[in-house]
Amino acid sequence: MTGRGRARRTPADEPLGSVTRPVVDDSAVVPGCHRCRSAALTRVRLALPDGRPAVFASCDACETTAWYVVDGDGTPLGPDGSPRDAG
Ligand SMILES: [Zn+2]
Repeated sequence: MTGRGRARRTPADEPLGSVTRPVVDDSAVVPGCHRCRSAALTRVRLALPDGRPAVFASCDACETTAWYVVDGDGTPLGPDGSPRDAG
């Protein structure tokens, strides 16, 4: 399941360097906020400094942020990749 089977067209009025939306659904990686359990999260796919693919989640409700390793154990991490305490 790569999502690459669909032909892509480049909109003429789309500026270069605009934010691209990930084709993957990261709600499976980050189902909710680790602190307040809100599902209203802003999720951004990125990589940790050690190269692991991860999802950065920013909670719309309590404004906490955390990083989650893709296909990991769901532990919220800090920006350096170390586990982040829930409190
Ligand atoms: Zn929250």
